Amino acid sequence: MTAHDVRLFGDQVAATRIEGRFGALGARALLRLAIGDLFPGRIALVSSFGADSAALLHLVASVDPATPVVFVDTGRHFPETLAYRDLLVERLGLKDVRVHGPKPAATAAEDGDDFLWSRDPDRCCAIRKVAPLADALEGFDAWITGRKRHQAATRAALPLFEAEGPRTKVNPLAGWSARDVVDYAREHSLPAHPLVAKGFPSIGCMPCTSPVVHGEDPRAGRWRGRGKTECGIHLGALDAGGGI
Ligand code: SF4
Repeated sequence: MTAHDVRLFGDQVAATRIEGRFGALGARALLRLAIGDLFPGRIALVSSFGADSAALLHLVASVDPATPVVFVDTGRHFPETLAYRDLLVERLGLKDVRVHGPKPAATAAEDGDDFLWSRDPDRCCAIRKVAPLADALEGFDAWITGRKRHQAATRAALPLFEAEGPRTKVNPLAGWSARDVVDYAREHSLPAHPLVAKGFPSIGCMPCTSPVVHGEDPRAGRWRGRGKTECGIHLGALDAGGGI
């Protein structure tokens, strides 16, 4: 199977076929396949530089540190996240980190008081996360995510390869448990996000992330009490300017 096949049959059937053929590979071998063979020069890692991000960033850097890494700077991140991003970029030797943020015209028009996150979090995520990510992925055929099946009921059936609009999403850690991530980080002496020790096992934007107490779902602190569980970047085809 070549990248040409994937482009030609860029649908879930093709993605499932790829998974059937390569699904038994470990995460590093899968990344080597995706970065080097399936989508050479046309795949990016999208990272939030959050609580779980170091393992996947380290894996990608070990395969090819020049792999583009996209970070969406919503303008609402914790300062600790930005510092952690800079630390990991330096430590892992990542050579192509691309920071994309919301368009000033969009925030001026819809979030002039900086409280759109409170009034309409879906719309806030749309202009501060989804649209910038769609712009960032222009020109790529595939992107790598760090999502895992154990993280949420909505991710319980997460495949390794997903077709999404014109692109393929690769989820090399889909089958990893929380323990796998911790063990990997320990084995490779990776630094932890500084907020993890303060009760934040899942970290998004500052206004929409709260600490969790022992026994709570790790994502319970995301949009707490808002009935919202995802920012929207994984809820539909990303298509810059396409009504997202
Ligand atoms: S997580 Fe909150 S602050 Fe960040 S983009 Fe979404 S609604 Fe806005």
